[in-house]
Amino acid sequence: MKQPLLGLTLTELQAVVKNLGMPGFAAKQIASWLYGKKVASIDEMTNLSLKHRELLKDIYEVGGEAPVDAMRSVDGTVKYLYRVGEGHYVEAVYIPEEDRATLCVSSQVGCKMNCKFCMTGKQGFTGNLTAGQIINQINSLPERDKLTNVVMMGMGEPLDNYNQVIRFLRLVSSQEGMNLGMRHISLSTCGLVDRIYDLAEENLQLTLSVSLHAPNNAIRSRTMPVNQKYPIEELLKACRYYAGRTGRRISFEYAMIDGVNDSDGCAKELAARLKGMLCHVNLIPVNPVREAGYQKSGRERQQAFIRILERAGITATVRRTLGADINASCGQLRRKHLKEG
Ligand code: SAH
Repeated sequence: MKQPLLGLTLTELQAVVKNLGMPGFAAKQIASWLYGKKVASIDEMTNLSLKHRELLKDIYEVGGEAPVDAMRSVDGTVKYLYRVGEGHYVEAVYIPEEDRATLCVSSQVGCKMNCKFCMTGKQGFTGNLTAGQIINQINSLPERDKLTNVVMMGMGEPLDNYNQVIRFLRLVSSQEGMNLGMRHISLSTCGLVDRIYDLAEENLQLTLSVSLHAPNNAIRSRTMPVNQKYPIEELLKACRYYAGRTGRRISFEYAMIDGVNDSDGCAKELAARLKGMLCHVNLIPVNPVREAGYQKSGRERQQAFIRILERAGITATVRRTLGADINASCGQLRRKHLKEG
C-alpha cells in the first residue's frame, strides 16, 4: 500500500525528497500542491519533473478521499460522509452563511466521552483520525474554495487525539499549508483539563470552546461523565489560565435542556462561576435525545437565562439552529454505509 503525503509537514516532505534524491526546493512545491492547490494526484504536480513524479509515485500517493455521501439541508448546510479506512466513516458539516462558510470537522471515529446528550458517544470509540484524515475533510470538500472558517466540533474529542490535532492545526495554519488564520479556527472540548494546560502552552490564537452545559458538579456529572474526573472547579481554573496565557476569550457552550439545566437558579450559579472571566456563553437549544428524555428549553427560558447572565456582565447569545432537518438524523449516513458495506 502506498503512503499518504497528505498530513506531512514541510520538514517531513524535505526528508521525503532528500531520500528520493530530489532537489530540496521540491518539498515546498509538493506542500503547495497538497495544501494550497489541493490536488488529488501526484500527476497533477506539474512543476516536478516526470521522473521525480514517478519516483514519488512508487512509494506515495496524495491520500485524498472524496466524500462517499452527502445530505443537504433546506438552509444550505451539507453533511458529508468520509470513509476513513475499512468500514469506518466520519462526518463533516459545511455551513454557508452570509459573511462566511464554516466546515465542522471530526477528529475521531466515535468518542470515549459518552456525554448523555450526544449521538457520537452512543456509537462508542473506534480510533483516532490522523492529521491527514482530518485535513482531507477540508481538502476533498466540494466547496473547499469558499471555506473561511474551520471548527473542530464534529465527531470525537479533539484533545483526546492531541498530537494529531496539533499537527492538523499547524498544517492548516502554516504558510506552506493552507494558510488559514488561527483566528478562523475553533476547537471544542468537553474539558480535558490536563490537555487545556498543554494547549495553553502551544499559544495558538485559535478560539477554545468549552462544552460546559451545566453550572455545577451535580448536574454536569450526570450529563457528562468526564466531569467525574475533572470537576467544574478544576475545569474553570484551567479556562482562566488559558484565557490569561493566550489573551483569547473562551467560548462556553451551554446546551439548554428543558428542566435539567435551564432554571433561573442555574443561570445565577453559572454567572457566579464565570464572573470576571474573559469569556462568552453560547446557548444552544439541545437537539432532543429521546432515550434520555431530553427536550429543548422554550424561548422564554432562553431569554430569561440570557438576561441573568447579561445582568452579571457576561455576554451570551443563542446559537441559531442550522441544518435542523439533517441534524435530526445525525449518524444516519454512517449507519446506512455500515449496512451497505
Ligand atoms: N468533543 C468535543 C467536540 C464535539 S461535540 C466537545 O465535547 O466539545 C460538539 C458540540 O456539540 C459540543 O459542545 C457538544 O457538547 C455539543 N452537542 C452534542 N450533542 C448535542 C445535542 N444533542 N444538542 C446540542 N449540543 C450537542
